[in-house]
Amino acid sequence: MAMERIAIVGGGPGGLMLARLLQRQGKCAVVLERDRHAEERPQGGSLDMHGETGQYAMERAGLREAFLAAARPEDQGDRLYNAEGVLLFDRNDPMDDRPEIDRSVLRQILLNSLTPGTVRWGRRTTRIAPEKNGFMVYGDGWAEQFDVVIGADGAWSCVRPLLSDAVPFYEGVTLVELGFEVKRHPRISKLTGDGKMLAIGDNRALITQRNGYGHIRGYAGVKLAENLAREWGARSCENLRQTLRDTFAGWAPTLLDVIETGECIGVRPLYALPLGHSWKSQIGLTLLGDAAHLMSPFSGEGVNLALADAVDLADALISTNDWSLVNRYERAMCARAAIAAEGAAQGLKSVFSSTGVEHVLEHYRARMHG
Ligand SMILES: Cc1cc2nc3c(=O)[nH]c(=O)nc-3n(C[C@H](O)[C@H](O)[C@H](O)COP(=O)(O)OP(=O)(O)OC[C@H]3O[C@@H](n4cnc5c(N)ncnc54)[C@H](O)[C@@H]3O)c2cc1C
Repeated sequence: MAMERIAIVGGGPGGLMLARLLQRQGKCAVVLERDRHAEERPQGGSLDMHGETGQYAMERAGLREAFLAAARPEDQGDRLYNAEGVLLFDRNDPMDDRPEIDRSVLRQILLNSLTPGTVRWGRRTTRIAPEKNGFMVYGDGWAEQFDVVIGADGAWSCVRPLLSDAVPFYEGVTLVELGFEVKRHPRISKLTGDGKMLAIGDNRALITQRNGYGHIRGYAGVKLAENLAREWGARSCENLRQTLRDTFAGWAPTLLDVIETGECIGVRPLYALPLGHSWKSQIGLTLLGDAAHLMSPFSGEGVNLALADAVDLADALISTNDWSLVNRYERAMCARAAIAAEGAAQGLKSVFSSTGVEHVLEHYRARMHG
């Protein structure tokens, strides 16, 4: 089969990494991205990049130097508090191998590495139709034919339904995302330390995480029905703040500062694909990243897996015009993701339980000694 005209639907970390790796090997690919430009949406918080997946992908992409220049190895700390504000765990070792990088910075490094014009901004894909030779990809007022279409379009992928009936399900927990400037919020900075702060009480959690450029990102996590999560998304910041005050009543004032002083960024209900999601391989069409294996962020693996998928898929597409290599990529990728997804589901379940703080303390101690 021909594999010359390659469309990557979605310009997130996974899609951009794939485009970069293909271009390095002389293969041409375009990225169809729904955002009109790189700054259209806030890109979210800081990510820790794991050695064998995220960092390995940056190296394979020839972007190790750019990554090291932008990464923050000094921000890998973990702190754990209980709801009374007692510090139970506090560790920061810059020699750990999971340096942090802001998501927007990572995206910019990847964008800068691509041949100009690779990303076609403002191209929301709405429909994909199989043709005699490849696929027709449609959007609002445009259509283009490709030999290969890759769904790198995240949680609500429009490519996935062509391969699988799976639909993301709500995991029962919603995060309210909050933002802080270190300069204006020294108390939040002190609470956070160098890295991530987790405060866990009965089925609830407050999280803050140091980002680059003097910012801290926070989350108030609660168990919530899906319809209420949708309703929270439509509320004003002050209204949400009052609801959170009621939900976290009785917590230590040092922790409640997170709710009192954060700027509301958004309401994020957590969705996941069924554990072990896979599909029957179909020539010319495949998935990577969240489109293939959406999971809660409680494993810290999502971006790392998306980047590792891109490496493996690029290798499969470059080697030959033989789709069986992509089929092999799909099987290995789904198996690898299933392990991480199980960890993410368990992580979420144990944090949002009546004994969450003990579970996380045990996990942190085990990691320190492991
Ligand atoms: C609150 C939160 C915190 C997280 N923290 C971490 C963390 O610390 N570490 C970690 O590894 N992971 C984390 N994750 C997970 C991580 O964000 C994802 O796993 C990762 O972004 C997946 O990358 P991707 O490229 O597959 O998809 P995405 O990043 O979702 O990118 C998809 C892209 O496709 C575009 N798109 C969507 N639909 C279309 C369409 N129809 N047409 C064209 N373009 C389209 C989107 O605009 C987007 O640019 C977190 C997630 C959340 C929600």
